[in-house]
Amino acid sequence: MPNRSSNTGHIPQRSCVICRKKIKKKELLRFVILENEIIFDQKMNLQKRGYYCCDDNLCLKKLVKWKSKVKS
Ligand SMILES: [Zn+2]
Repeated sequence: MPNRSSNTGHIPQRSCVICRKKIKKKELLRFVILENEIIFDQKMNLQKRGYYCCDDNLCLKKLVKWKSKVKS
């Protein structure tokens, strides 16, 4: 019997910039870096390079350090 390979539709995934885990896009927090500040883009409408972070407290804490390494 043919086994139809996962036909659940394509769920977009992104990796958290800190832990690199692949997570469903919906469950990640999107943010952009604007004038060296982290701006969470809740409405997903900022026309800037977006980054994603999971909502893990540790990751969010590390995000501040991570930001200082990234030049927008
Ligand atoms: Zn993470």
